[in-house]
Amino acid sequence: MKGRNALRGLLAGVLVVATSGYVYAGRQSPTADDVHRLTDSVSVVNAGGTNVTVFSAGDTLVLVDSGAPNQGDALAAALDNIAPDATVQTLFNTHYHLDNTGNNERFGASGATIIAHQRTHQWISQDHWIPAEDRYAKARPEGAWPTRLIFNAPESMETGGEEIEYGYLLGAHTGGDIYVYFRNANVLAVGDVASPVRDPELDWISGGWIGGYVDAMDRLLEIGNTETLIVPGTGPVMTYAEFEAERELMEVVRQRLFVQVRAGDGPQNMLDAGVLEGLDRTWDEPFKFLYDAAKGLWGNHNKLDPDGI
Ligand SMILES: [Zn+2]
Repeated sequence: MKGRNALRGLLAGVLVVATSGYVYAGRQSPTADDVHRLTDSVSVVNAGGTNVTVFSAGDTLVLVDSGAPNQGDALAAALDNIAPDATVQTLFNTHYHLDNTGNNERFGASGATIIAHQRTHQWISQDHWIPAEDRYAKARPEGAWPTRLIFNAPESMETGGEEIEYGYLLGAHTGGDIYVYFRNANVLAVGDVASPVRDPELDWISGGWIGGYVDAMDRLLEIGNTETLIVPGTGPVMTYAEFEAERELMEVVRQRLFVQVRAGDGPQNMLDAGVLEGLDRTWDEPFKFLYDAAKGLWGNHNKLDPDGI
């Protein structure tokens, strides 16, 4: 029954998408149309193109990610719409990217505990190089830093009758990704380890790579079940089957790239060899994806066991 209700919520959400011109990559503010109720307790808000998963029970709110920068007021209004007078007790960061942590300061200042992987804390709290933009990013203000850090072991917490499980996904989209699973609601927030609309991204400089990305997807499939709803970092909420299909496609890409890199190929060779062709999706920036993939593959060359394909 829970699954059927969840699916109805999902379908309603899709209808809103179809009729309101829901734009994933934009910077528009959340409106009522951008609050998608998945179950009685879990909603997803589109905050400037970034999905914020919201768990609500009584006067307690738990968020996964805090939206794109400058979306704080709009996100707060959306939270008011979901649960007036409730406060955010816990904020998870799936990873360090600014689009997913853009309003950490706001929720941290109002008392929320910000939970993230140690590597996410490192990338948020230090100046760091952004190769694709050829510039340094300054460390975020201290108020944006995660305040409770996890390492490798999965953890869980109970709040409002919900069992919330969370854990590390080694070297996937970044070096510090975590999932957050609302077990009773059966909603799994995975950040950018799923990317149904935008090109999948491998943030190689922080430790993301294609091998880790597929391994992480396998882990997520084990955590969930066929009724699980999966919330990506951006784009529409996915069914388990849709996520499984994305995993299969990324596995094909991984196998092809392993062959290419063993032959000593770089991203242009990979592109010329058509490694992204004949698939059920196309890339907006295939060379960028392959450049990042090649960087990560060479950085993980000790894992390219020929028997691993
Ligand atoms: Zn990201």
